[in-house]
Amino acid sequence: MLDELRELYQEVILDHGKKPRNFRRPEHPTNEAAGRNPLCGDQLVIYLDIAKDGRITDVAFVGKGCAISMASASMMTEIVKGRTVDEAKKLFESFHRMCTHDHGESPEADGDEDIEKLQVLSGVRQFPVRVKCATLPWHTLSAAIEGVKEVSTEAGG
Ligand code: ZN
Repeated sequence: MLDELRELYQEVILDHGKKPRNFRRPEHPTNEAAGRNPLCGDQLVIYLDIAKDGRITDVAFVGKGCAISMASASMMTEIVKGRTVDEAKKLFESFHRMCTHDHGESPEADGDEDIEKLQVLSGVRQFPVRVKCATLPWHTLSAAIEGVKEVSTEAGG
């Protein structure tokens, strides 16, 4: 990757890390879950409003942690809002692959603008410890969707 691009990517991450989007606690979420990444000390709570048709009509989070986990959570809230829970799960799968497989851009990312946005975080695959920071918000989202109250990255993958 060109150094220039790398810098730009970091800027996006820093921006989301400093000014996380949808950082609030809604009063009556339909679903919520708490996630912890003991390796880094990241912790957050994801709040969802899931409509009867399975669409995620609102998503917000609170928490504290490193810039990667906060940026990832912030970007995730922007991307999954308005999606169905099935679409959100597919996004998580694509993102997880992107963060763990060391073979460049994943082909399924092609054409999906939202997945392309997440590419900025895929640099974490060079740093296995950071992968858990980047995927924590998604593990927590998925727990919230499934009705699981708490999730820890120590429980695997
Ligand atoms: Zn972290």
